[in-house]
Amino acid sequence: MSEMMKSLQYVTVGEPPRIVEVPKPKPGPGEVLLKVTAAGVCHSDEFIMSLPEEIVMTRWPVPFILGHEGAGIVAELGEGATGASIGDSVLVYGPWGCGRCSYCVKGDEMLCPVAVREKIAPPGLGSPGAMAEYMIVDSTRHLVPLGDLDPVASVSLTDAALTPYHAIKTSLPKLGAGSTVVTIGAGGLGHMAIQILKAITGATVITLDIAADKRAFAKEMGADYVFDSNPQAVEEVKRLTGGVGANVVLDFVGIQPTIELMPQLVAPGGDIQLIGIGNGVLPIGFESLPFDTNFRGPYWGAIPDLVEVVEMAKRGQIKVEFEAFSLDDGAVAYERLHAGTLRGRAVIVP
Ligand code: NAD
Ligand code: ZN
Repeated sequence: MSEMMKSLQYVTVGEPPRIVEVPKPKPGPGEVLLKVTAAGVCHSDEFIMSLPEEIVMTRWPVPFILGHEGAGIVAELGEGATGASIGDSVLVYGPWGCGRCSYCVKGDEMLCPVAVREKIAPPGLGSPGAMAEYMIVDSTRHLVPLGDLDPVASVSLTDAALTPYHAIKTSLPKLGAGSTVVTIGAGGLGHMAIQILKAITGATVITLDIAADKRAFAKEMGADYVFDSNPQAVEEVKRLTGGVGANVVLDFVGIQPTIELMPQLVAPGGDIQLIGIGNGVLPIGFESLPFDTNFRGPYWGAIPDLVEVVEMAKRGQIKVEFEAFSLDDGAVAYERLHAGTLRGRAVIVP
C-alpha cells in the first residue's frame, strides 16, 4: 500500500477548499520531491475560486491541490535529476516553461509559448501545488536555494515579491530621484511592492487602499503618503506632483474602479501597469491616456528576478509580513483573505 499524505484541494466549484488524503507522489525522471516547508495563499486562487464552473473546468479542472507559492526541503531526486542535493532548503519558481525556447533560455519561463501548447502548468495552477505535505517539482531548474532564510517567512518571495519586482524593474528608468509612483492595493503583493520601491528607486511612494487598516500598514511598510482609493485620490496625487501626476502607477487590484483611476493618476510619458486580476477593462484610444503613456500587463516574473528578490531578502532590504496557518486551517486562511483581514500574506505550514 502506498504512503498517504494530506493536501488542501479545490474540490467543488463554488465551495471552500478542503483537506483530501492522496498518495505521497514519487518523482519521475528529472523530477524532484520536496517535503513542503511552506505554501503561500494568493488572491489569484481566490479569483479562480470565484469563477463559474465552465471556465474553471476548461482551465484548472477540479479537483486540484492548491498552492503556487512553495518552499521545501529536497527529499528525493528522480532518475537523472542533478543540480540539487537531498536536504537542500529551496524556493519553487512557479511559472514553469519548456526550458528550451527563446523565452525560457533567458529565464522568462512565465512567457513560454510551448508551455501553453503542451499544457505545462505551474504548481497549484494546473499541476499539483504546494499545499500538501509533499510536492513534485518538474526540474531542478525551478529550485532557488534559500540558504539560511526561514522558509515560512520567505515562501511568498516567489510571487508576492517576484511579481511586483518584475513589474517595477521595467519601470526603473522612470523612477529616479524626484519621481513619484502610485501603488493601488496594500495586500500580499502591494506591501512587498512598497518595500521594493523604497529599496531600489528614488521615487516618492503614494499608496491607495480602500481599507483604513491597510493604509496604516502601507505607511509601516514605507509608503510616504496613503489615501483612500477613490477619485479624490487623483486630486491628492496631482497636488503632490505639481499638477502633473505620477511617473508610474501600479494597480494591484484590477477592478473597474481602480483601472479607471490609472489614466487619471499618470503623468505624460509615464507607465501604467496592471498587475491585479479583477476583470476590469481599460479602453484604449488616442486620447484615453496622457500622451506617450506606456501600458503593461506583467505576468509573474523571470528566474533571474527571483534570484535577485531572494538576494534582497538575504540582505534585509525586504521582508514578507505574514500570518501562519496549519494545513488543516487552510480554508480559514482563504476566508481571511476573502474578508480582507490579513496583514500581509497568509502562509500555510504543513
Ligand atoms: P490581497 O487580497 O492580499 O490584497 C488586495 C488589497 O487590495 C487589499 O489590501 C485590499 O484592501 C485592497 N483593495 C481592494 N479593493 C480596492 C480598491 N478598490 N482600491 C484600492 N485597494 C483595494 O491580494 P494579493 O494576493 O496581493 O493580490 C493582488 C492582485 O494581484 C490580485 O488580483 C491577484 O490575483 C493579482 N496577482 C497577479 C499576478 C500577476 O502575475 N499579474 C500575480 C499574483 C497576483
Ligand atoms: Zn499568485
